Amino acid sequence: MNGLLVMKFGGTSVGSAERMRASARLAVEESRKRPVAVVVSAMSKITDLLLGTMRHAEAGDRTGMESNLAALRERHQQTCRDLLPHERQPEAMKKIGRLIDEFERIVNGMAMLNERPPRSVDEGVALGERLSALLVSEHLLAEGVDAEAVNAWEVVVTDAVFGNASPLMEPTRVKAQTRLQPLLDRGAIPIITGFNGATADGRPTTLGRGGSDFSASIVAAALDAAELWIWTDVDGIMSADPRLVHDAEVMDEITYAEAAELAYNGAKVLHPRTLAPLAEKKIPVWSKNSFAPEKPGTKIVPSTKAEGGVRAVASMGNVALVSLEPASAEVNGTLAMARSLEAIARADVEVLVVSSSSYRQSFCFLVRSEELDRAVQSLESALALELAHGYLRPISVDNNVGLLAAVGEGMQGKPGLAGRIFTAISRVQVNIIAIAQGSSELTIAVVVRRDGLEKAVRAVHAECGLGRRPPAPVFPSGLLTPRPGCRE
Ligand code: ADP
Ligand code: ASP
Ligand code: MG
Repeated sequence: MNGLLVMKFGGTSVGSAERMRASARLAVEESRKRPVAVVVSAMSKITDLLLGTMRHAEAGDRTGMESNLAALRERHQQTCRDLLPHERQPEAMKKIGRLIDEFERIVNGMAMLNERPPRSVDEGVALGERLSALLVSEHLLAEGVDAEAVNAWEVVVTDAVFGNASPLMEPTRVKAQTRLQPLLDRGAIPIITGFNGATADGRPTTLGRGGSDFSASIVAAALDAAELWIWTDVDGIMSADPRLVHDAEVMDEITYAEAAELAYNGAKVLHPRTLAPLAEKKIPVWSKNSFAPEKPGTKIVPSTKAEGGVRAVASMGNVALVSLEPASAEVNGTLAMARSLEAIARADVEVLVVSSSSYRQSFCFLVRSEELDRAVQSLESALALELAHGYLRPISVDNNVGLLAAVGEGMQGKPGLAGRIFTAISRVQVNIIAIAQGSSELTIAVVVRRDGLEKAVRAVHAECGLGRRPPAPVFPSGLLTPRPGCRE
C-alpha cells in the first residue's frame, strides 16, 4: 500500500485516558497526510495482571482472582469514564464488560480444572490488547474520526507455539489485505491489537512478552507499509538502558542488525523479532517518544555510513549458566556438546551464549531463567545414561550470572577492542565468567557475576566513550588527554 504508516503505541503510551488521547492525536495528525494503521499494546501493567489472575486461578486462589478481576474492571472503567463523553459511556461500558466477562469465563475454567493450558492463557492474555484497542477506537469515533478496533486474530496467522508463536507471512498477507485494506481505502484508521494472532484454524496465540512491536512489523510487512513508527516512553534507542546508565544517549540512526542484536541481548525497547519481517522490504522504522513527540527519535535503517565500533551496550539479568563436563578424557566432549545442543533445541530453549574448553572438554550454555527448567529437564533426559554411568559430571547451574553485550557494526576493524572491554569490566572488580563473540562480529558478549552486571555495563559504556559528554572543562589546551573511545 502506497505511503502507509503503521504506528505502534506501547503500554505507557496507552496507559491512561490522557495518554490514549495524546497517542490518538498523533495518529490523527499523520492520517491527514497519509493512510495510518495503529497497533496498540495493553495498558501498562495489564498483561502482568492478566497473567497473575490466571496463575491465581490455577492455584485455586479465588480471593486473588477476584481482587485482580476487580482491579482489571476498575482500571478500564475509570479510563472509559475519563476518556469518553457522557453519552457514549454506557455503550462502551457494556463492551468492556463483555470482554472482561470473556476473561472471567476463561479464568473460572482454569480454577475449576486447576490447570492453565497454554492455549487458554493465550486467549486470556490477549484481553489486555482487545480492551485498549476498544478504548482507543471508541475515543476516535467520539472525536468524529473513522476508526475500527480489529482483533489481530483476524489478521495475524501464526504457528501453534502458544506463548511464543511465529507469523506465517503468506496467509497473514492475505488476511491483512482482506480485513484492513477496505478500512484504509475508506480513510478509516484500523486500531489493531498487538501481541496476539491465531493459527490458521483459529486457535488464539501470542507472540511472546513485548510482542506488540513484532505485531506492528508483521502488519507493516503484510501491507507493504512505507514506514513503521514505534512509540514508547523514551526518546529512542539509546546507547544503554537509561534505567541503568544515567548518561545514556539517544542514537540518531542505527542499523537493523545493530538494533536486532541489542534487542536479542536484552534491550527491552524493541522486541527481538521486530525487524525480521521488515528486512526484506527494507521498511524503515522509527523509535519515538509519545511523551515528547517533537523529538526526532531513532531511525532504524538497513545500513549506515557511520564509523564502525561499539555503539551501545545491552544487558540481561534473568539468565542462568548451565555447565556440563565429561568425567574423563575418554568421553567424546564434542559429541556430548552436540547432543546437549540438540536436547536444548528440542525443548524450544534459546541458547544465548555457548562457551567451551577444549582441554577439559567442558562446555556451558547461557539460557533465559524462565527457560532453565525446560533446558535442564531436556538435558537430563537426553543424557540420562551418560549421567547415570558417571561419564558426565552432574549438570551444574549457576543463577548468579548476567549477560553484557557490546554492540556495533564494524567492530572487527578495531584491534584491542575486546581487551579494553574486558579490562574495563575487571577494573570495577567484576568477575568475567565466559566470553563469546558472535560470528557476525557485531557483538562481544560477556557473562559476568549477576551482582556486578550494572557496574560492568556502566564501565563498558564509559570505556567506549558512549553517552552524553559533560561540557568540556575550561583548561588550557594540551592538558587533557582523554582516553580513546571504542569508536576512535
Ligand atoms: P513499550 O511499553 O512502549 O513497548 P517497553 O517498556 O517495552 O516500552 O520498552 C521501553 C523501555 O526499554 C524504556 O523505558 C527503557 O527503560 C528500556 N530500555 C532498555 N534498553 C534500552 C535502550 N538501549 N534504549 C532505550 N530504552 C531501553
Ligand atoms: N502487552 C504485552 C506485554 O506486556 C505485549 C506488549 O506490550 O508489547 O508483554
Ligand atoms: Mg515493549
